[in-house]
Amino acid sequence: MARCSLCHREGSEGGYCGYHRDAHANLVAAYEAWRKSTELSWTGFLEEIIQAKETGEWAREVAQSLLSK
Ligand SMILES: [Zn+2]
Repeated sequence: MARCSLCHREGSEGGYCGYHRDAHANLVAAYEAWRKSTELSWTGFLEEIIQAKETGEWAREVAQSLLSK
């Protein structure tokens, strides 16, 4: 079993643990919803997420790792 790419927990499909996998799924869903009203790019969206005060710790870590790829 591989480790999560973002923390020390055991990973699963996609290289994320349950927490980071959920956070990633939420990010993708939020982007799909956001894109209906704005022309924001995926990268721009991730930057917004990282800046936003209300972003949770898990989501911020996922967003930062996606941006640094
Ligand atoms: Zn994790």
